[in-house]
Amino acid sequence: MPARSSTSRLGGFIAAMSELADRAGRDESVMIGEGRRLLADLVSQDDWLPDEFARPHPQFYSQYLLYCDPFERFSIVSFVWGPGQTTPIHNHTVWGLIGMLRGAETSLRYEAGSPMIETGLDRLEPGDVDVVSPNVGDIHKVSNALADQTSISIHVYGANIGAVSRAVFDPLTGAGKDFVSGYSNSRLPNPWRGVNV
Ligand code: FE
Repeated sequence: MPARSSTSRLGGFIAAMSELADRAGRDESVMIGEGRRLLADLVSQDDWLPDEFARPHPQFYSQYLLYCDPFERFSIVSFVWGPGQTTPIHNHTVWGLIGMLRGAETSLRYEAGSPMIETGLDRLEPGDVDVVSPNVGDIHKVSNALADQTSISIHVYGANIGAVSRAVFDPLTGAGKDFVSGYSNSRLPNPWRGVNV
C-alpha cells in the first residue's frame, strides 16, 4: 500500500476530531484530553502540510484555515511564523490546542492585571502540544523561537476561531481591545466569513 498522502493524514485527523465532537462536543475536558492525543499524533510527522499553508509572510505571522467543522464545533489552522515574528498579548475565549509541527515557538502566559502579570514561559518543540482555555489559562503572547527560520504550529480551537470576537491586551495598562482574527487565506471559500456566530 502506498504511504498515506498528505491529504489523508489531515483527513484522518479531521475524521477523528469529528467523531470526537459527535461524542463529546460540549465537554471541554474530553475534547482537550482526547483532542490533544490526536493532535500530538498529527504533528509527530511533518510530511503532510501543503506548501500553500506553510508560507511565511515577510512582515506578519500567517494563520491559514485548514478546516472548519460545519457545525463550528472546532476549526484547524496552520500558524506560520517568519523569523522574529510575534503576536500581541491575546486571549481566545474558547479551548485551543497548539501542536508544534516545524521549528519552535515560545508562549509567554499572562493573567489580567495592570500591568499584565507574566505567569510562565513555555517552549514548544516539534511534537509538543500546548493547551489554552478560559479554564486553564487563556492569555498569552506567542513568538517564533528561532531567529533565522520559519516555524509552524497547528492549532485546533473549539469554535470557528477566525470569526470569534476576543481581545488583545496592552502590557502596561492591561486594557483589552476587541479583535476578530479572520484567516490569512480568507480569499478561499469560507462560508462563515463575516457572519456573526
Ligand atoms: Fe494564542
